[in-house]
Amino acid sequence: MNSFNTKSIALAGLLSFGFAGQQNAVAAETENENASKPNFIVIFADDLGYGDLGIFGHPTIKTPHLDKMAAEGQKWTSFYVAAPVCTPSRAGLLTGRLPIRSGMCSDKRRVLFPDSNGGLPQSEITIAKALKGNGYATAAVGKWHLGHKSPHLPTDHGFDSYYGIPYSNDMDKVEKTDHFTLADNERYQAYNVPLMRDKEIIERPADQRTITKRYTEEAVSKIKSLKDGPFFIYLAHSLPHIPLFRSEEFKDVSLAGFYGDVIEEIDWSVGQILKTLKEEGLDENTLVIFTSDNGPWHTFKTHGGTAGLLRGAKGGTFEGGMREPTVFRWPGKLKKGVVMDMATTMDLLPTFCKLSGTELPDDRVFDGFDISPLMFGTGKSERDLVIYYRGAQVYAIRKGDYKAHFITQNEYGSQTAHPITNPPTEIKNARTVENPPLLYNVNIDPSEKFNIAEEHPEVIAEIRKVLEEHLAGIEPVENQLEK
Ligand code: MG
Repeated sequence: MNSFNTKSIALAGLLSFGFAGQQNAVAAETENENASKPNFIVIFADDLGYGDLGIFGHPTIKTPHLDKMAAEGQKWTSFYVAAPVCTPSRAGLLTGRLPIRSGMCSDKRRVLFPDSNGGLPQSEITIAKALKGNGYATAAVGKWHLGHKSPHLPTDHGFDSYYGIPYSNDMDKVEKTDHFTLADNERYQAYNVPLMRDKEIIERPADQRTITKRYTEEAVSKIKSLKDGPFFIYLAHSLPHIPLFRSEEFKDVSLAGFYGDVIEEIDWSVGQILKTLKEEGLDENTLVIFTSDNGPWHTFKTHGGTAGLLRGAKGGTFEGGMREPTVFRWPGKLKKGVVMDMATTMDLLPTFCKLSGTELPDDRVFDGFDISPLMFGTGKSERDLVIYYRGAQVYAIRKGDYKAHFITQNEYGSQTAHPITNPPTEIKNARTVENPPLLYNVNIDPSEKFNIAEEHPEVIAEIRKVLEEHLAGIEPVENQLEK
């Protein structure tokens, strides 16, 4: 890791100067090195759909800050996550690896629960741990969901500080009333979810009515206190995952109802972050990325979002489950515009390492690639594949324009096939092995309406080979979600 390199430089300095001079030289060298390293902020919404932002086509949710962020930076239209549900998606983002490699996905329990004992293993290297070794200050704010017991908490995984809820905001439900009624009555006490600072519980139940506002205040205060940089801030909102809550100022502000209010508050939060960067003079040295952990939760009707023109939703491997509304901003650095190339959250770790001069460990398989050529408009990334896992199994693979579904199943919690397709391809609620696999050209047909398997058996054969090679490279590890 680069901490070693930094120390080596420091040691060389000590050998060649007098002691006072040595210290000054070392300090100056470290300062120079640090000044050239960019800050990184990742803003991660929970269960936000592909069609939920103004810039991604929502007709009644106003997101002026995200729209402006995209206009000043880049809108990414083919940006994916590592899994269609919370825990494995977050493991993929922070480690740059498919969750199957860290034991963070399962067919039996799809996410971690309050009674879970497992979590992200210490053997994994998170973005925070990698960057910390290269002189970065790190902070996690918001929902974690990678294990709420040590040694799985954020401060066990390279973050200097943590403020947030350790798992989903609908867990620890202690009242029987349905989520809709509880949300309408602002009954946050119905969810005995803890709010933590580092490893201590500081509030229980967390008052979720002000949670977005408080995460924002924490992130703003971190930017101010860490402004001498470099820093990495991971701001993972716990909303718009149900139950919905919003602060007083955002009640009934949106034409899109309660869900719209929640998104408009998150948009306000983005505005606060960007405003702070500007005020602190950090604009041009800070890459900010906004995306979501998985698609909208369709079961919750108007309290869930929309995947727009994409088929499917949270929990499933059609595009709506795993393709996310994504915006990058880094004034003066990014090539402004729309990026349609494929990229994933797993690409962030190798990309941040590249941009900061942090060595990527060579003792493990990474599933991410450096996407900085796409950011700067200087070339392509190495990515030509997206692998869609549901639990611990590969359901689909996209290679280039084509996506083959080897197994299909309805999205999370849905009892009937989602009727977005026209003509409808019937997808059974039960897991179905497709033979031949369904095949779509997802550039021409992003809604996955028109199965072209019969016309392209050679494409299916090629993607099947990719599947076999991928599966042969997966080493069995201890499952963390079943502990
Ligand atoms: Mg989620």
